Amino acid sequence: MPDRRNIFLYYKKNQEMIEKVKPFYEYIDHYGFNIVQDHRKANIIMSFGGDGTFLQAVRKTGFREDCLYTGVSTGKLNVYCDFQIDEIASMVEAVKNEETEVRRYPTIDVTVDDQMSFQCLNEFSIRSSIIKTFVMDVFIDDLHFETFRGDGMVVSTPSGSTAYSKSINGAIVDPLVPSIQVSELASLNNNQYRTLGSPFILSGGRQLTLRILQDGNDHPTMGMDNEALSIQHVEKINIKLSDKQIKTVKLKNNSFWEKVKRTFL
Ligand code: NAP
Ligand code: MN
Repeated sequence: MPDRRNIFLYYKKNQEMIEKVKPFYEYIDHYGFNIVQDHRKANIIMSFGGDGTFLQAVRKTGFREDCLYTGVSTGKLNVYCDFQIDEIASMVEAVKNEETEVRRYPTIDVTVDDQMSFQCLNEFSIRSSIIKTFVMDVFIDDLHFETFRGDGMVVSTPSGSTAYSKSINGAIVDPLVPSIQVSELASLNNNQYRTLGSPFILSGGRQLTLRILQDGNDHPTMGMDNEALSIQHVEKINIKLSDKQIKTVKLKNNSFWEKVKRTFL
């Protein structure tokens, strides 16, 4: 099926990357794949770079469910990149010999003020944008769970658990566990404000709601993976596990925990 062989290449268009990716165009052609300029026509989307580039590739192509994403690293191997640029030959062989499998990464859906929705592959983060702390009421489903005062919160996917969430003492979560992890950024704890103080993991069916206290200090900085959200004013944020997942190509012997080991140990 020729239409199953359309590849879109995503990389930073600087001189260094253009040089690095150049041999790949011929290589792909040789194996009977077509390189398409419009990602909407692609079945396979390949990013060249690091994890940050992979996140961008997924975001800029609209979190396609009907595409296979492939991360090709131009440096060290990392979490989203299963292949290295100088091992393209072995990668193509692996694909041909069916030594690959599909890996699925859960994503999260974030809705702001019942109006704007977007997806995240690593995490949604919300932080005070000024020196003062800000306050939010935290709900798990309909339960008022806590009133948070501090710098902010990070809500991460399982594959995002090795990123920002890890820096704030979150646990590493196996992407086979459909869940979201909620971690605090510098919470204030005293007789007036009390928070759980440790990260918590919610099952896929739950919804987290953050209601920002409207006290003139309600202009937090919000981030979806590596992009800032350009919304100035926010009252309510709903976050839940999405029913959409990102599919990537993996080698059979390359489990998530192997990636964790090679990245951190
Ligand atoms: P960046 O600031 O250039 O990179 C942050 C680092 O995180 C890079 O080393 C990046 O790897 C790595 N990274 C990204 N996703 C990862 C994952 N799922 N597991 C392990 N490491 C990961 O920004 P970026 O490259 O665009 O990445 C955006 C991410 O940075 C955000 O989604 C957030 O998770 C993270 N971040 C972390 C902190 C923190 O730890 N304090 C603060 C802000 C943002 P590469 O070098 O391969 O790109
Ligand atoms: Mn980066």
